[in-house]
Amino acid sequence: MELTDAGAEPRSAPDDQARPSILQRNVRSMVRAQASMAREAGFYPFSHVLAHPGAASAASDGQREVLNFGSSNYLGLSTHPEVIAAAQEATRRYGTSSAGPRLFNGTLSLHLQLEEELADFYGKQAAAVFSSGYAANTAMLSSLLNADDVAIFDRHSHISQREGAERYGIPALTFRHNSPESLSHRIAGLPADRAFAVCLDGVFSMDGSIAKLREIAGITAAAGGCLMVDEAHALGVIGATGRGACEHHGCLDQAGLISVSLSKALAGTGGAVIGDRATIEHIVLTARSYIFTASCDPAAVAAVLASLRILRGTPELPAAARCQGQRLREVVTEAGWEAVPGQTPIVCIPVRNRISAVLAWRSLLDDGVFANVAIPPAVPEHSCVIRLTATVAHTEPEFERLHAALVAARARLRDARDYLELRRGKLYWPRMPS
Ligand code: PMP
Repeated sequence: MELTDAGAEPRSAPDDQARPSILQRNVRSMVRAQASMAREAGFYPFSHVLAHPGAASAASDGQREVLNFGSSNYLGLSTHPEVIAAAQEATRRYGTSSAGPRLFNGTLSLHLQLEEELADFYGKQAAAVFSSGYAANTAMLSSLLNADDVAIFDRHSHISQREGAERYGIPALTFRHNSPESLSHRIAGLPADRAFAVCLDGVFSMDGSIAKLREIAGITAAAGGCLMVDEAHALGVIGATGRGACEHHGCLDQAGLISVSLSKALAGTGGAVIGDRATIEHIVLTARSYIFTASCDPAAVAAVLASLRILRGTPELPAAARCQGQRLREVVTEAGWEAVPGQTPIVCIPVRNRISAVLAWRSLLDDGVFANVAIPPAVPEHSCVIRLTATVAHTEPEFERLHAALVAARARLRDARDYLELRRGKLYWPRMPS
């Protein structure tokens, strides 16, 4: 049926064809039923309440203390006294809310200051601060590409980059995860007059590997494409001064645009796109996710600004974060698990399926360790991971407790698998919601 706005005659639904109710149909939603079953059984791994989301240990569900190996507070700055003081001072001076979008009343001098310092940090001309990293990525894609162009994504690129293309009808292609050869192949198939952008994470959020940007930047530049790198998990951690994977691979100049999330190492909320002045100005005048949403609140911007200054004034911080990542990786391996290889504080353990993921998660929690579970669409179809992250705040006794919990989880998972084998075909296991 064709739907048009203009001149449409109001028509009532034929009697024999009851119109489905958008709200009513959720009452019988399978996803809800499965989630509530998992919750009742204590096997729902999402939105778990932690008393302190960024601390190395925190009360879990308001009860006992657990070790938090699930936070992106890589540099521990969300509890740094100077960061807290900056957020408090901003709230005192400007109130709790920006009370509007950037283009209306929601631009504070703090936003401009942060943009200037981010641009300076990256050695680029300009930056635009968004209310989230997600919004920054959708803006970067949707404002700059159109239906005649092509966006080429790594298969593990964060969903917010792809959203920018999918929602706005920009043709999209993918290449094999972290494979410069596969990218070359994709580019070779493009008509010579087709503009394209290559978009990927500097550190892949769901496996913790670093993108092979040296080769990828070279291939993209040689074919006249634009490289857009999302440094959400690399900022503050990777590269000699913490500027991310582009710095690590010596290709900051070749990245046309860099996007970041401000809610990880920089301990606030928000996101940013950093690049040349003309492009940034175009983005802020055209991106819906910049124009039609309230700007980041004063406390968050002040916290990020203070964190950025601490990062720049403490050159040893990125290496300390990587060192903790290395220790975490050792602990995981010594406990008998096989993690995706990497050099970052994100350590991902692929598991067979959702049941294994949830069992391992529960076992870790029972032994006082909080970890994250990632299932599709956070990870590619047919894959699941237990995702652990280290921060500079984790101590050696905490790593040792994690080791014991990982050893126990492995044993329990083996028992559960044996049990499943035994009962194969006779047991009903609910699928977790996707
Ligand atoms: N990019 C990547 C690689 C991410 O992992 C995330 C969030 N986890 C985002 C962007 C979105 O950032 P934000 O949470 O600030 O919206």
